[in-house]
Amino acid sequence: STDRVFNFAAGPAILPENVLLKAQSELYNWHGSGMSVMEMSHRGKEFLSIIQKAESDLRTLLNIPENYYVLFLQGGATTQFAAVPLNLCNPDEPVDYIVTGSWGDKAFKEASKYCKPKTIWSGKSEKYVNIPSFGALEQTPEAKYLHICANETIHGVEFKDYPVPTNGNSLLVADMSSNFCSKPVDVSKFGLIYAGAQKNVGPSGVTIVIIRSDLIGNAQPNTPVMLDYKIHAENNSLYNTPPCFGIYMCGLVFEDLIAQGGLSEVEKKNVKKAQILYDTINGSKGFFRCPVETSVRSLMNVPFTLAKPELEAEFVKEAAKEKMVQLKGHRSVGGMRASIYNAMPLAGVEKLVAFMKDFQARHD
Ligand code: PMP
Repeated sequence: STDRVFNFAAGPAILPENVLLKAQSELYNWHGSGMSVMEMSHRGKEFLSIIQKAESDLRTLLNIPENYYVLFLQGGATTQFAAVPLNLCNPDEPVDYIVTGSWGDKAFKEASKYCKPKTIWSGKSEKYVNIPSFGALEQTPEAKYLHICANETIHGVEFKDYPVPTNGNSLLVADMSSNFCSKPVDVSKFGLIYAGAQKNVGPSGVTIVIIRSDLIGNAQPNTPVMLDYKIHAENNSLYNTPPCFGIYMCGLVFEDLIAQGGLSEVEKKNVKKAQILYDTINGSKGFFRCPVETSVRSLMNVPFTLAKPELEAEFVKEAAKEKMVQLKGHRSVGGMRASIYNAMPLAGVEKLVAFMKDFQARHD
């Protein structure tokens, strides 16, 4: 509608308009229950139907095999940086991290408190613009898992395929916070996938963990109960009070993604949106620049700079006046960043590239 902006924020981020309107229509009195989802007992039949449907729709979307648990947790992806090593290894065991941006680095640093992680590859010296060729990786033979960040939200670097772990357990773990449900993923290639909801699938406050069932039950003895996957798996994510309203919102988004035809259809739209944006950057004769290596550019987060950095503040300000907001790059890298998650309509990206071309014409 005309009073909404195009929100290019990295997260919390844009949500589908029809989902917001549906939530609005159900807010006051959910399905004749006489109360809103926010007021319901998490153990009542109404909320149980909501969380069960959310899980089953997510299973449909990602084609999640039966031997995987789906957990709806709290604490953000940041909490998973600790929960992953606490659940998957002992304090003296080695694990491997590929670090393609600052989120992967944070995950590695947190793991250092709970096991013996090694960064087997880091893009830091090149300012995180690429992904290593998998053949050249030197994995630790006895590592318990190999961790990647599937899409680096700040640096705009995205894995297009995945390394095969050669460690004893062949266990690949991925932080998919910023590209979760943006395209089909073969879940069976992963031991564990985790993602904060607040980019592609819902509001902040919900963290989704998809974990192969044989991996639970071996948490370190001092693992807080809230970080123990076994506790949450055995209690269907209802060990304590879950983020009920957030889970409900994720459920509405899953329904919407299914209605769009599933993740292959969603991916097609995302490819098209990213393409017109990168084409505009590439076609600008250097006026706009994206530092990321072409083959690993993210479909979700597009960082770019101006050849004349003194114009960047003006770019962001003028765009905001035209109702395109949150285009300022992350404070650690500067420049601009357009996050174009599932819910960003093609019209939003078309408006952005038209603005970019006009801005260039006026300032080149
Ligand atoms: N990993 C990635 C890839 C992220 O983008 C973020 C948040 N921007 C996090 C982890 C941290 O997530 P949270 O704020 O939910 O803890």
